[in-house]
Amino acid sequence: MIDLRSDTVTRPTEAMRAAMARAEVGDDVYGEDPTVNALEERVAAMFGHEAALFTPTGSLANVLAVAAVVQPGQEVLCEARAHIARAELGVHGAVSGLTMRTWSHPSGGVDTAVLAELIAPDLGPFFVRTAAVSVENTHNFAGGTVLGIEELRKVRDLADRTGVAVHLDGARIWNAHVATATPLIEYGACADVLAVCLSKGLGAPVGSLMVGSADAVAAARIRRKRLGAGMRQVGILAAAGLYALDHHVDRLAEDHAHARLLARACGADPDAVATNIVTFDHPDAAGVVAQAREEGVAVGMVGARTVRLLTHLDLDTDQVRRAADVLHRLTR
Ligand SMILES: *Cc1c(COP(=O)(O)O)cnc(C)c1O
Repeated sequence: MIDLRSDTVTRPTEAMRAAMARAEVGDDVYGEDPTVNALEERVAAMFGHEAALFTPTGSLANVLAVAAVVQPGQEVLCEARAHIARAELGVHGAVSGLTMRTWSHPSGGVDTAVLAELIAPDLGPFFVRTAAVSVENTHNFAGGTVLGIEELRKVRDLADRTGVAVHLDGARIWNAHVATATPLIEYGACADVLAVCLSKGLGAPVGSLMVGSADAVAAARIRRKRLGAGMRQVGILAAAGLYALDHHVDRLAEDHAHARLLARACGADPDAVATNIVTFDHPDAAGVVAQAREEGVAVGMVGARTVRLLTHLDLDTDQVRRAADVLHRLTR
């Protein structure tokens, strides 16, 4: 099966497994796992922040990051299809006690004029106060679109002027970085808190990080333990993340080229494919999914008329060409 459903389906390479097997470990709840500490320090520095915290999932990294800047009873603003709003099963309300309001944007981005209207300052004990704006880069359900650094800086400026924090859901920030050559530290400078994933395009089996100030990360460490995600000799997983940062970032350009190749085959506009996600409309998306599967190609759906493909580390150009042939026939 050529699996294009997600970039989470990758399996650790032999070299990554060897790095995991060699990892020095300790009890991370005591802060004594040297490999976890090295990963946290490295990722914090990559984004120009003081500290970072290793988490089992990107969802938990988002929970900790958002809760670091939004108190119970306050709100976070985000795009209507944001992962925090759509795909984290209501955790920000159910567990963190905060509310959300959303804006809609065709490519998952931000119109700062719209955002300025939405931001509710502290008006006293009458209205929910906006504590943070959340942006997603790249935007998953909008099709891997990139939020440009210029737009992100406008969000940062607006947030500074209105006294709210910025949360960046950077599950695929690596893809945005490779697609635009924007240094990670510039993205980091626009956010108070970030969540980044090692288990998507970077190919680690598990692992994400919440990134922020030393104080925010200290509070997040307590919250993580409270939620039952204090992990012990987890350096074997952090080692996979370190390996991925060394070896799997620059190669994302290959995934992006593969995505454009697939877009062309499916009659989608390759210029609209910014990173490793391709979405295209088809009157019978479920039919395309079922037929492709019969021909050995697994693809996903994000709506009755929208097919979604992702490229990743476990696909070579031959496999992508074969998948492109199948999809070309099915969608023509
Ligand atoms: C995958 C993803 C996450 C985190 O997902 P987990 O499955 O919990 O690791 C967060 N945000 C975005 C945009 C994602 O695509």
